Amino acid sequence: MQNYFLTATGLYFIILFRYFLVAGFFYWLLWVKRPEHFCQRKLNMDDPSPATIKSEIKWSLLTSVVFALPGAVMIESWKAGGTMIYSDFEKYGVLYLLVSAFIYLFLHDTFFYWTHRLMHHPRLFRIFHQVHHNSRSPTPWASFSFSAWEALIEALVVPLLTFVLPIHIGVLGIILTTMTLFGVTNHAGFEIFPVRWMRGFWGRTMITATHHNLHHRNYQVNYGLYFRFWDKIMGSDRL
Ligand SMILES: [Zn+2]
Ligand SMILES: [Zn+2]
Repeated sequence: MQNYFLTATGLYFIILFRYFLVAGFFYWLLWVKRPEHFCQRKLNMDDPSPATIKSEIKWSLLTSVVFALPGAVMIESWKAGGTMIYSDFEKYGVLYLLVSAFIYLFLHDTFFYWTHRLMHHPRLFRIFHQVHHNSRSPTPWASFSFSAWEALIEALVVPLLTFVLPIHIGVLGIILTTMTLFGVTNHAGFEIFPVRWMRGFWGRTMITATHHNLHHRNYQVNYGLYFRFWDKIMGSDRL
């Protein structure tokens, strides 16, 4: 038990550090430095108040605690040999490294899409999801701004998958980094990808700030996390 709490505490600080590093970098670059070529790529006219940003950071401190709890169960179980996380590159072949990364991202995206839609149900919205939608003009600081209930739901999926689907420890690290990067860039308040990318395969397939920003304006559309796949299938995709 003592090991678990030590791991959870360490993980909390790692998650928090990662949040401040990535969100802080994009906030500094886009909102403080504001390079000229990004000015036409700003998505909303209205800027969030300092009080809103303060509140987003406050909720993010709590989200980091909630994310650390199942994360620590996963790490301790891994140490005890109870998960399907492995460290030998060749155990399932090199191709599986790629395939497993895609499967994890797809399953995470599927889980996110459906739980997100469910949290928009009028009976659930206020308890689970209102906090996140307090950010009407998101900045990178909004990427972790969730109620504890929403954070708990979102924190469970990747640790649970590691008990049933083999994943290399390095690939798991890449997936968790991808999760943070998408979370932050989708809430950047600016479209960071080149226009050429947005008109091509990337923009047609992947979720970026332009796509997710619309969800913060119109609650009925664009529920996905990484891919536009489920939104397109379910008719909730707008751009
Ligand atoms: Zn959002
Ligand atoms: Zn929502």
